[in-house]
Amino acid sequence: MDEARKIRLLLELRRQGIADTAVLGAIEKVPREAFVPEAFLDQAYENIALPIASGQTISQPYVVASMTAALEVGPRMKVLEIGTGSGYQAAVLAHLCRRLYTIERHRDLSEEATEKFKLLRLTNIVMQVADGGRGWPEQAPFDRIIVTACADSRPEELIGQLRDGGIMVLPLTAPDGRGQRLVRLRRDGDIISQEDLMGVRFVPLVPGIADSAAST
Ligand code: SAH
Repeated sequence: MDEARKIRLLLELRRQGIADTAVLGAIEKVPREAFVPEAFLDQAYENIALPIASGQTISQPYVVASMTAALEVGPRMKVLEIGTGSGYQAAVLAHLCRRLYTIERHRDLSEEATEKFKLLRLTNIVMQVADGGRGWPEQAPFDRIIVTACADSRPEELIGQLRDGGIMVLPLTAPDGRGQRLVRLRRDGDIISQEDLMGVRFVPLVPGIADSAAST
C-alpha cells in the first residue's frame, strides 16, 4: 500500500519539475510514514505538510525535494541542517552526503528523531539540542547549510560557517514583509550571492532553546 503511494508521490514530484535522480532516489529510500504522527499515517505519501509535536510541521515532500535539489549535495560533503523537526529532511539528506549535522531547539522532537535515525540505521546523522541560529561552530565550516525554519533576515552567524564555494538554502521573510521566499546563497570568498527560488511557508526560526512546555 505504502509502496504504491510512494511511487505515485515520486511521479508527482517529477511532474512538478524535480528531475535530479539522486534526490528522487533518496526520497524513495526514506519511509516518510516513519516520521509522521500516527493520526496522519494514511496521509504520509500525500504531497502536503503535516503537523508534528510541539506545534511544528514536517515539510511538504515537494518542498523537501526542491530544497534538497537546490542544495546540490555531493557524497563527500558535510551538511548542516537547522530545524530537525520530524527528522525527515535530515534522513533524505543523510543518503546524499557524508555527514549530516542537525540542530533542533525542542528536546522532545530531537529525541524522537534520534530514535527514528537509529531505527533506520542512519548512522551518519549527528544531532544537537541548541539554538540553530548560532550554528555549530565546533564543526564549521560546512559545505552546505539548509535552514528549515523562516528567518526575518540573513542569519550572518550561519553564513560565517559556510565553506568558500558553499551553498545555503533557506526561507526568508519576503522583502515586503508578506509571505516567505526560499532563497539560495552562494559564498565566493567574501561575496555572498543570493538567488530567489520560490514562495514557501515555514514555521518561524525562534531564537533560544524551547522550554519543555512551550509550543513555539
Ligand atoms: N526539517 C523538518 C521541518 C521542521 S519545521 C522536517 O523535515 O520535519 C522547523 C523546525 O525548526 C521546528 O521543529 C522548530 O522547532 C525548529 N526551529 C525553529 N527555530 C529554531 C532554532 N533557532 N534552532 C533550532 N531549531 C529551530
